Amino acid sequence: MSRPPGRGVWLALLLVLAGCTHLTPAQRTQLSDWERVAGRVTAHYRVSAVTFLVGEQDGPGGGALRPGGIITFRPDMLEPLPPGQSRDFLLAHELAHWVLGHAHRRPPDEAATVGWDAHQQRLELDANAEAVKILAVGWHWTERRAFFHAHAYLWTYRRGVVARQIGVPAGHPPDPCVEINDLIRRYPAYRDIAEACPSGPEPRWVEDAGRRESGLSAPAIDAR
Ligand SMILES: [Zn+2]
Repeated sequence: MSRPPGRGVWLALLLVLAGCTHLTPAQRTQLSDWERVAGRVTAHYRVSAVTFLVGEQDGPGGGALRPGGIITFRPDMLEPLPPGQSRDFLLAHELAHWVLGHAHRRPPDEAATVGWDAHQQRLELDANAEAVKILAVGWHWTERRAFFHAHAYLWTYRRGVVARQIGVPAGHPPDPCVEINDLIRRYPAYRDIAEACPSGPEPRWVEDAGRRESGLSAPAIDAR
């Protein structure tokens, strides 16, 4: 897939340049790391390069892929996290939409909403699974480590949704457990480092989730 940069891309470049003036040095460092990784991934998949656009966006979700390979991030997604944590899955997931050719999807008219939701949710699950491969390619991780990171990220996402700290982004399954369990199903070799997710959480379950999550980030698990 290769297409000449259109007017939209140049507009985006201008916006990126303008947007960068508002980034902190730490955010700029993260952005340039991600740009380097994204270049490695698109070269590996032989698809055209992506452009980053950092700015506020509507709705829940920290990132999104727009037509033409424009990946948008909210500035806070570039904020540093404590050691051992990262949002690399977020970038890998958006890159997965790009390499899988999902960039031309568009929201349906109202009559088609139900069918669109089901289709879009399948694309999200496909992007999660491809993101594991992209983490291995772009970050030079083993697939096992990449799976562990993706799965732990989805658990953190789910915890945020259960605690009502974050919303479910458009197109994603309303129950984040669907995403966790689908990823585990697609990578059966790593069941030994995976935690399946029950649906219909109850108060006792929420406590368990917290314990499980802290267990997941324990360095004792060999996920490299
Ligand atoms: Zn997505």
